[in-house]
Amino acid sequence: MINKIDRLRGGLVYSKALGMFNLNRGGGSCRRTPACADCYVNRSCQAYKLTKKAWTPGGTDDKNWSKASSEVFEGLGRVRIASRGEALRTKADVDRVVAWVKDNPDTLFWIPTRAIYKNRGKDLDQGHMEYIEYHLASLPNARVLASLDPFTAHHWPMLEKRMWSTMFYESKNMPKGYKFKGTHPAKGQDGAKIHFCTKTWDLYFADNGRVVGPKGSCATCENGCFELSRVDVWLRNHARAAKNSAVTDKIRAMESLDTEA
Ligand code: SF4
Repeated sequence: MINKIDRLRGGLVYSKALGMFNLNRGGGSCRRTPACADCYVNRSCQAYKLTKKAWTPGGTDDKNWSKASSEVFEGLGRVRIASRGEALRTKADVDRVVAWVKDNPDTLFWIPTRAIYKNRGKDLDQGHMEYIEYHLASLPNARVLASLDPFTAHHWPMLEKRMWSTMFYESKNMPKGYKFKGTHPAKGQDGAKIHFCTKTWDLYFADNGRVVGPKGSCATCENGCFELSRVDVWLRNHARAAKNSAVTDKIRAMESLDTEA
């Protein structure tokens, strides 16, 4: 069995926040929408020089991505692919991830993606979607989720129809006339299966006054991103929660889904 040091040498990093290893990729790989300006990676890059250095194209994240192989995932129960960066940008990327997933049938691979969008989120790249569906999403240990934000929220009905799970985050940036402000784009729609993400909704004030989520909750999360059937994961904005009571906000959001659905 491969040890922790070899996993790190092989390109993985361990995240205490997620409670698992993940494999990152540099910022040049992202397929961006205007919501990306509010991405937690950008905020983290402003706060930490090391993250900025790692995420800069050609930096540590890209080096780690290049050297990863099936062996580094051996024996892991769960792993996140691309906590930052885009894992499935090209067909060759998809093929590479498929090989890792097939070579490790007992490992659950969590793979959020924006590679299915084009024109800054306005349109879906149907051909790439089909390629991912056929080769990767069909594998029993792959958990592929479409990353949703206010600039891609209009794709939810099509994603649901094609049985894609989604991960929604409401950025501060929204298109003009955005109609889902403060709620989830699947609200009231047939087929919606909204899951409040524990890590971002069950927040509390730490001793230093900062609002934090439960550490490591992704390692044991049951009905969120690792759910076998289709799911709509709703990620809460930490910064906004800091100004309010996170618990009260959650109850309010749940009531709003119940009463107005
Ligand atoms: S839904 Fe679960 S696995 Fe997904 S981010 Fe939230 S805690 Fe982690």
